[in-house]
Amino acid sequence: MDCNTLIKYLSDYIDNDLDEELTAAAREHLATCPNCRVVLDSTQQMLLLYQDQQHKRVIPADRRKKLYNQIAAIFDEK
Ligand SMILES: [Zn+2]
Repeated sequence: MDCNTLIKYLSDYIDNDLDEELTAAAREHLATCPNCRVVLDSTQQMLLLYQDQQHKRVIPADRRKKLYNQIAAIFDEK
């Protein structure tokens, strides 16, 4: 798996929505790629922060998509 593929699957990875094969591939990539680990960490932090601000309410799907897209855009600019 390369970085672009990982970013594409990042939201599903965080949600545990990937099948076993893709999860394993994502884990393997994350183990060897510090950049993607930073992206994953920041994404999870952002999601947590947002959840705290919203008093633990679940982030609406469209809002989550937006967040993921913003993160993917940041990643693309590097
Ligand atoms: Zn990577």
